[in-house]
Amino acid sequence: MTMTKHCEFGGSGAKRWLTCPASITMSRGIKRESSPYAEEGTKAHALGEWCLKHGKQIAEAPEAMRMDEESEAAVQIYLDKARPSFGDRHWIEASVNLLPMLSEPLVDQLFGTVDFASVKGNHLLIADYKHGKGVPVPPEGNDQMLFYAAGMMALLREKEPGRAIRKITLAVIQPRCSDVDPVQSVEIVPETIYRWIKMRLEPGIRAALLSAPTFAPSADNCRFCPAHGKCKAAEARRWMRCSHP
Ligand code: SF4
Repeated sequence: MTMTKHCEFGGSGAKRWLTCPASITMSRGIKRESSPYAEEGTKAHALGEWCLKHGKQIAEAPEAMRMDEESEAAVQIYLDKARPSFGDRHWIEASVNLLPMLSEPLVDQLFGTVDFASVKGNHLLIADYKHGKGVPVPPEGNDQMLFYAAGMMALLREKEPGRAIRKITLAVIQPRCSDVDPVQSVEIVPETIYRWIKMRLEPGIRAALLSAPTFAPSADNCRFCPAHGKCKAAEARRWMRCSHP
């Protein structure tokens, strides 16, 4: 899997830090612990990336990349969605930088990695593969997907300034979660992204940069927050839930 530098205002944690602005400062300096689930997800992404980049089947992957049957079947669903969608041009594990989309330079770094994206005519497709099965991830109103869409719009402005995007499909591929369809997608227009940047992204960054940012503990926010072990707001929420289940 393509390795990228860690960015504290990163795309994969966008929902968390946009909802709980304090999580940025609280997470600063904390080493991100891995887990068997995270490692399995990383491996599944690497397998998908290798197959797409080399035009190969899973069975042809190096032995060290192979996974169990269930995981490989899930990665195959990702490949089956991505391969017919190469369009005029496609990107695999594309690093995207959102700074050019901001109205003012609020931070030094604002980037993420898009699993798969393609353009065909005026249609942009962005796909995100989720190997986890516990928490269903809908594409509608999904901060992470909107973050990636904003990043791809910035990339296209730079690389293909003559291409006017009119339709964007956000696809979440989560084959192992039995509560949702393996491939869920939603169509949006570029104006949705510009509105999200103005109404959600920029206010969220400003809120995180305050000297006393707001805490917003919730199951979704705290579950993957690096600070959850030392956060008093998260601890208070756990106590509340114990005393008022
Ligand atoms: S643990 Fe929860 S409440 Fe505390 S900073 Fe992280 S997301 Fe916010």
